[in-house]
Amino acid sequence: MRGLYVHMPFCRSICTYCDFVKEVASPSKRARYLEALIYEITMVKAELSSVQTVYIGGGTPSLYNAEALNKLMQVIHTHINPKQIIETTLECNPEDVTLDFARQIRTLGVDRVSLGVQTFQDELLQFLNRKHRAKTAIDAVHHLRAAGFKRISLDMISGLINQTMSMLQDDIKQLLDLEPDHISYYSLILEENTRLWHLLERGDIRLLDEDLEADMVEQVYKALTEAGYEHYEISNFARPNQKSLHNLLYWQDEEYIGVGAGAHGRIGACRHENIRSVKYYLEAVENNRLPRAQTVPVEGLKEALMMGLRLTEGVSLEKLETRYEKTVFAAHPQLLEAVALGLLEHIDGQLRLTARGRMLSNEVLTRL
Ligand code: SF4
Repeated sequence: MRGLYVHMPFCRSICTYCDFVKEVASPSKRARYLEALIYEITMVKAELSSVQTVYIGGGTPSLYNAEALNKLMQVIHTHINPKQIIETTLECNPEDVTLDFARQIRTLGVDRVSLGVQTFQDELLQFLNRKHRAKTAIDAVHHLRAAGFKRISLDMISGLINQTMSMLQDDIKQLLDLEPDHISYYSLILEENTRLWHLLERGDIRLLDEDLEADMVEQVYKALTEAGYEHYEISNFARPNQKSLHNLLYWQDEEYIGVGAGAHGRIGACRHENIRSVKYYLEAVENNRLPRAQTVPVEGLKEALMMGLRLTEGVSLEKLETRYEKTVFAAHPQLLEAVALGLLEHIDGQLRLTARGRMLSNEVLTRL
């Protein structure tokens, strides 16, 4: 199975914590980018025939109106038979999702929306420099439902600056009241050169206490699993049959192709990365060049372990050893230490994180 990831790098404003490939740009630059993106898709059309999942992410793809998104979907459907596509996800920001917009994107073949909610606390949203407020996010979910969307995923963050445990509990309550079929709940990660990073460097803010942050993660795990969600990946939870099929490709060592500035892909034994700068991306495509920054061999077994161990089910040692013709523990003896420390368990041929290992997943995965 193969997926297509499409990157739309523009945002209305920049969130304090964000280190994705994104920028604020004029409507004319956004239009120019869309043309380039469409052209890049035609350049890689030979790679697309077996694609079954499409994920349009950003940035903020919903900054484009339905007419522009229709142009994009049309080119995608020209090169991939819509009948073979089993999932098409569009990332949206709540402030863009009116009832009209929801109805329009539904007609384009989008069958899953991933909505960036992050928190229901207005003061925290303001600090993050998000443009929506709690009510906007709640309205957006209702609009999506009214438009007929059955598959809605909500993105949340815990461990936010100034977040208290009671704020987190309120977030979880409001989240569950909306009954999404999929939830991505990330811990705040402090990335270099973000606004948050500079505020912290200057001593203007303090990160949450580590114990409180860990308690929040535990609280999220407990509340969501008690509410009937399957905790299938470190940060992802799903109702039955509602896992993200596209993201599973990344975790299950499958192929995907990435188009757009900064997009990554993995085809066969090679990983490709597109030029991150929108300026140079446009220059390359407009001069009829594939906008690759680099194409490198995949680090096969290591990458498969790093991604696969994120899944609750873990990885099948037999499958990996057959595919990469290496013995996992011989190639990565440090994993045996993690087993001895109770961070990983090896049961019935599967290697997976224990409950404790999941809480300390960074520690386990950086051993690789
Ligand atoms: S909307 Fe998303 S991509 Fe854009 S700045 Fe905020 S977090 Fe980053």
